[in-house]
Amino acid sequence: MGSEDRLARQARNEALFREVNERIADLGNRAQAWSPAGTDFLCECGDEGGCGQRVRVPVEVYERARSQDDRFIVLPGHESPEIERAVEWTDDYVVVDKIPAVEKYVADDPRGAPSS
Ligand SMILES: [Zn+2]
Repeated sequence: MGSEDRLARQARNEALFREVNERIADLGNRAQAWSPAGTDFLCECGDEGGCGQRVRVPVEVYERARSQDDRFIVLPGHESPEIERAVEWTDDYVVVDKIPAVEKYVADDPRGAPSS
């Protein structure tokens, strides 16, 4: 398998976790269970099958990241420099932005605005 395939799979994995997190966000909204400290989302890193770890993110940060197609939230150290770059980081989470070469794999999010 070529490196192009591997990067594509990794990018798609991250899009998959985003869908799961979207459901977590929905549930949280309905239950009004948001805590000021943040909500536990799944790390959206593209590790094989996902790392399955929780990442605590304030909802406004999550929503802001979600407003762009190619932004994802991962745990510190879970960035994949080959396909993304960090645009915001704290001790709890890192917001990453997909590099142009892989945006085509994640750009079908109906909620997302066009990437800048
Ligand atoms: Zn991870």
